[in-house]
Amino acid sequence: MRKITADFIFPISSEPIKNGVVIVDDSGKILQIDKREKHDTGSLEVHKGIIVPGFINTHCHLELSHMKGVAPTGTGLLPFISTVVKERDIPQETIDAAIEAADQEMYDNGIVAVGDISNKTDTAATKEKSKIRYYTFVEMFDFMQEDWVEKTYADYYEVYKGQSGGNGNKKSCVPHAPYSVSKGLFKKINEANGDGVTVSIHNQETVHEDNLFLSKTGDFLGFYNAFQISLDAFHATKKTSIRYALPEMNPNCRTLLVHNTMSRPEDIQFAHNWGKAGVYWATCANANLYIENRMPNYQHFMDNDAKMTIGTDSLTSNWQLSVLEEMKAISRYQSYISFQTILRWATLNGAEALQMDDDLGSLEVGKTPGLNLLNLDGDLNLSADTKVKRLL
Ligand SMILES: [Zn+2]
Repeated sequence: MRKITADFIFPISSEPIKNGVVIVDDSGKILQIDKREKHDTGSLEVHKGIIVPGFINTHCHLELSHMKGVAPTGTGLLPFISTVVKERDIPQETIDAAIEAADQEMYDNGIVAVGDISNKTDTAATKEKSKIRYYTFVEMFDFMQEDWVEKTYADYYEVYKGQSGGNGNKKSCVPHAPYSVSKGLFKKINEANGDGVTVSIHNQETVHEDNLFLSKTGDFLGFYNAFQISLDAFHATKKTSIRYALPEMNPNCRTLLVHNTMSRPEDIQFAHNWGKAGVYWATCANANLYIENRMPNYQHFMDNDAKMTIGTDSLTSNWQLSVLEEMKAISRYQSYISFQTILRWATLNGAEALQMDDDLGSLEVGKTPGLNLLNLDGDLNLSADTKVKRLL
């Protein structure tokens, strides 16, 4: 048993406690939350700073970890994807070592669970033995080609079968993005999952995505052309991309929309009206800055009571895999958002999105959420010097 205390503890599910104590058993399960004065000083493990639950990273591509620094910054999404696709022939040992190192990096940065996009089974072995829990989203795309549906689905279903579902992990099949998935493939994915799982989809990451759907204009035409894939069968829907994708998905699955850089209040409301099992929004601030050099307007999401979560995206589009660094980026560029709000995005909201909140995301008796120590500034805010230390 350990009695761990700091200047404040932030349970998330309840108000911060000054000089709070978290009492855990040897497995890290919380037995009691209390105040310092009720305990012998000698029995306490005393830290300076604040204690928060382990972080939840709702969007990563662990299998792309070997491409750190390969793609130039600020090019925009479509040149970025083209670079990533071209760079995929790398020795397997290099890929495997990078995956192992990235898993360890996330652990060291206080991350306890990850929503991870997989197109391959490269990450399965690491996930089976990791101290982090993974929700693997086996991601499918057929470039909106209806005659590719059967083969695409069959190939990716093999990936699904090979991905880790043990060691506290979960998995589902998911569509890549509105601009890359045909109606036929959406249907196959829905049938494979049934109701109740969590799914994710990349959404409104670039202005060109909405332009494709609104008016069949913008850089996606050249993108498809460069891959020699025909868009002849595609007709503009005259609505934003999210209004194409969500009606093809299952509202009875918990749905995690990723990036949402261009999402407007009407899009957010549309998603909320559509979803029956919870709509969650993953923001990847540093990846947005890396790729497109712009960020979502978080005020729109807060005004609409959107359940925000935080993702790191991959090392291909980020400088590190750290939820804390994402929190700092959000706070630096949109400083009207309070620390406690961002902290909730980074913990309990993420755990709910991954349906792991029975055990993770908040400091409550019976949970085993992991404990992180943070040093804040004098006003209890994040600063450039804030660091995370994993206490368990
Ligand atoms: Zn992504």
